[in-house]
Amino acid sequence: MNQLRSTCIESARSEIQDCLVVGAGINGAVAAAALAGKGAKVTVIDRGDFASLTSQESSNLAWGGIKYLENFEFGLVWKLCKSRNELMAAYPTQIQEIRFFTSIAHGFRKPRLLIYLGTLLYWWMGRGRTKAPRLLSPAVIENEAPMVNTEPLVGGIEYSDCYFVENDTRFAFGFIRKVLQKGSNAVNYMELIEAEWRNGLWDCTLRDHVSDTTVALKAKTLVNAAGPYADRINAMHGIDCPFKHVFSKGAHIIVPQITKTRHVLTFFASDGRLFFMIPMGKQTCIGTTDTRVDSAAAEPTDDDVAFLLENANALLKLDKPLTRKDVIAQRCGVRPLVVKKG
Ligand SMILES: Cc1cc2nc3c(=O)[nH]c(=O)nc-3n(C[C@H](O)[C@H](O)[C@H](O)COP(=O)(O)OP(=O)(O)OC[C@H]3O[C@@H](n4cnc5c(N)ncnc54)[C@H](O)[C@@H]3O)c2cc1C
Repeated sequence: MNQLRSTCIESARSEIQDCLVVGAGINGAVAAAALAGKGAKVTVIDRGDFASLTSQESSNLAWGGIKYLENFEFGLVWKLCKSRNELMAAYPTQIQEIRFFTSIAHGFRKPRLLIYLGTLLYWWMGRGRTKAPRLLSPAVIENEAPMVNTEPLVGGIEYSDCYFVENDTRFAFGFIRKVLQKGSNAVNYMELIEAEWRNGLWDCTLRDHVSDTTVALKAKTLVNAAGPYADRINAMHGIDCPFKHVFSKGAHIIVPQITKTRHVLTFFASDGRLFFMIPMGKQTCIGTTDTRVDSAAAEPTDDDVAFLLENANALLKLDKPLTRKDVIAQRCGVRPLVVKKG
């Protein structure tokens, strides 16, 4: 790998690049692979490891945007379902259909039948590419998902969406591999420090965090795929954009496997938001939180973990309630949400 990295650095500095992609999360990796696939000479860099920021902190779901139906954003859901279907068809071993087993409590803000009609509409918008939804009575939930606490439930709904069978990072890394296979360059631990537009080229200064040296690179175009740090890079280079990012922190906890059946247990948490228990190998991933934060650097707090454990224990009927001792790992990142400035 060191040899490959050195070869990439040498190639990047000795030849004018058609494009420098800054950030090797899912967006930078896909952009670089698409450009390299069209024959462009590309270098994609990341100041950390490949896909080591937001793209390793997601819920591992590839969904068609069911929650936007509540706000009647039909056009958006139609497009998201189409993208989800295309992903499912293009990456059949990595992105697969999974059933969402959704519980609905008494007094929920929408009647169960209306939610069922919503899932039917969602299925139709997904061009019927998945299994049809199913209305669940508390007795069926009791029978098929005995770990769910059915006491507060009016019933539930089962519908389909997709998930990353391995995980988000591996999916992103597949595109980095494609960049290399096409003879382009991918370099981790390489940070963009400065870029100046001079004589029709981007004159870039990079910091190699492995050798602690500076690398100069010239590129015809520059793609800013720095995720939550994209605004910072724009500001560094005086680029005025009509949009900006706001950050919503999301935390997950990983606990020993709650159910062996391959479906996502879905609930509405105490804050009214969707709350998932997602299969992750021999573990279960529980989340997520949604907290507006100012900084792109995110750490799970004690309150985040307490919120996740409290909700999981209220929604499940476990022999022993989950405690902090059951938490094998935590995942936490910020969702970089795009909004119009002003
Ligand atoms: C809790 C949570 C759950 C989510 N769940 C889902 C989900 O289930 N499904 C879904 O589709 N999406 C989900 N998302 C959203 C998804 O994870 C993000 O939209 C996606 O990962 C963003 O990818 P990105 O490539 O834009 O950013 P990132 O993955 O953050 O990549 C940006 C990269 O740029 C690098 N970088 C920054 N500055 C520099 C620099 N100066 N020089 C070099 N490199 C730099 C960073 O190191 C980073 O690796 C979730 C997000 C969160 C936080």
